[in-house]
Amino acid sequence: MENQLNAIVTQIIQVSPAMKIFRISPDGWELPDFISGQFAALALPASAPRVVDATPDTENTDPDKLIKRVYSVASSSKSKEFIEFYISLVRSGALTPRLFNLKIGDRIELGKKMTGMFTLEEVPADNNIVLVATGTGVAPYISMLRSNILAGGTRKIAVIHGAANSWDLGYSSELRLLESLSDRFIYLPTIIDLEKEHAKWNGDTRFVQDMWAGGVVEKAWGLKPTPENTHLFLCGNPKMVESMFEILGKEGFKEHKRKEPGQVHVESWG
Ligand SMILES: Cc1cc2nc3c(=O)[nH]c(=O)nc-3n(C[C@H](O)[C@H](O)[C@H](O)COP(=O)(O)OP(=O)(O)OC[C@H]3O[C@@H](n4cnc5c(N)ncnc54)[C@H](O)[C@@H]3O)c2cc1C
Repeated sequence: MENQLNAIVTQIIQVSPAMKIFRISPDGWELPDFISGQFAALALPASAPRVVDATPDTENTDPDKLIKRVYSVASSSKSKEFIEFYISLVRSGALTPRLFNLKIGDRIELGKKMTGMFTLEEVPADNNIVLVATGTGVAPYISMLRSNILAGGTRKIAVIHGAANSWDLGYSSELRLLESLSDRFIYLPTIIDLEKEHAKWNGDTRFVQDMWAGGVVEKAWGLKPTPENTHLFLCGNPKMVESMFEILGKEGFKEHKRKEPGQVHVESWG
């Protein structure tokens, strides 16, 4: 079964104990075109072993059955050699304990079609963009930024990224570098579990929705984000998405739908 899987794990970066970045290359076929913000399916057979610190399987599944889940692409839409994902381990889950046991060179099934509406396609070119994430929800934004959405134009872009601890802030070096290279990009990380930090954390410790409500973007931009000048993207924890929605609704922002254009784009993994 393993030999029939269509892709190969070519790099694994351990971000934190329960978060990994996986690079996967197609074996004998070409990655299709996709738009940054879209997702792809990954699958492994039930026979693939689980990582040791996961809980054991509760059901007896046919060992050849493929366990499939979808993941937002983190690599640039221009990259044709590999596709990258930022994944957190759900210890009781069906697929992630198997993904976390993979080694470089192992085979995996990669869906040949990337889909999803969580893209910048329908954002007016002169609008600013606020990308809000918790945990691995930052993945689609990394793809957008790597696909050079800062090139040309004058729009401002902000990333607000919340995580439990500083070591869970995946891609922070890349985002800080980008911030140092562009005066139109700001990176606003926050952590909420200060007691577990081993060294002093000088950054924000509020929930992302409290940062937004406290005007963190307005202060950084020197400009109030309004429904007329800004689109927001929300990705990750459903509770964060819900709270952000409530605050944004009071400020006059509306969810974006193809038939009813608004300014808030949502990818909730609940
Ligand atoms: C469009 C989309 C994009 C996604 N992109 C990503 C991504 O880039 N990175 C990523 O890590 N995940 C992403 N996910 C979530 C992913 O698809 C899986 O749901 C997740 O990896 C859990 O899979 P699993 O088989 O291990 O757990 P499952 O067997 O599906 O779930 C086991 C149990 O854990 C609960 N659970 C599921 N996910 C979580 C979680 N994150 N934390 C706590 N409990 C959970 C479930 O409710 C269930 O009770 C995305 C989901 C969607 C819909």
